[in-house]
Amino acid sequence: MNTNLLLLIGVLLPPKSLDGLGPVVEERSVHTPYGLFGPVALRQREGAPGVWIGPYTGLPTRTDPRATIFAANQLGAQRVLTWDMGIALNAALMRGQPVIAGDFIDFTFREPASFASDLQRARQDERRLLIPRFCPQMSAALQKVLPIAPSVTYLGIDDLRRETPAEARMYRLWGADIIGQNLVPEVLLAREAGLCFAGLVTVATHGADLPNPDPHGELRAGLELVMGMLADYVHYLSMLPDCTCIDG
Ligand SMILES: [Zn+2]
Repeated sequence: MNTNLLLLIGVLLPPKSLDGLGPVVEERSVHTPYGLFGPVALRQREGAPGVWIGPYTGLPTRTDPRATIFAANQLGAQRVLTWDMGIALNAALMRGQPVIAGDFIDFTFREPASFASDLQRARQDERRLLIPRFCPQMSAALQKVLPIAPSVTYLGIDDLRRETPAEARMYRLWGADIIGQNLVPEVLLAREAGLCFAGLVTVATHGADLPNPDPHGELRAGLELVMGMLADYVHYLSMLPDCTCIDG
């Protein structure tokens, strides 16, 4: 079966938590014009589709997002799923709850959000006319395996510091439900490179202007919930026809 998914994990997981996706059958680092990406591990169960998996944390020494998407292409992945942690602005979201990134606001400044100098100019101009979005097919598949996860608007930032209470209120007025650091500009770069990209976010805490009650294991339970469905997600995706979302 096809190995066409790269899973980027921006959450801290206990060792062995990914064993449900099968043993590691290959490890690789990818040299890109934007720096080294990896190492990533290919996990595969017998008779099941494989999945490339890489950790994805560590601002400000993070991997250049262009290296990430360039490497996804080199690995032969047509789909990229990032599992991120986020700060909830929407008071209805609970700590540990998984949410699906349905739309986004780009509030990043540091990283170049384009391969512009490297792709053919004509292709670039054409893609720039398209409305940026997460892959509807991958997002619908997430909804299928995680029916409790709502679709939310994600605010992408690339600053390490926390938001102030006033900023949290402002972001909420903009329509953002959650803040995170690992989906933007990756979603834009993936679209430019012709790859499908989706984001799953686990709520780590609440925004600076909201109450944050003491934790009682909700985060751990929420991470386990997602870990428990990853193998189903990989399997379900492998049964879907090729996606055409990057064409329109
Ligand atoms: Zn797609």
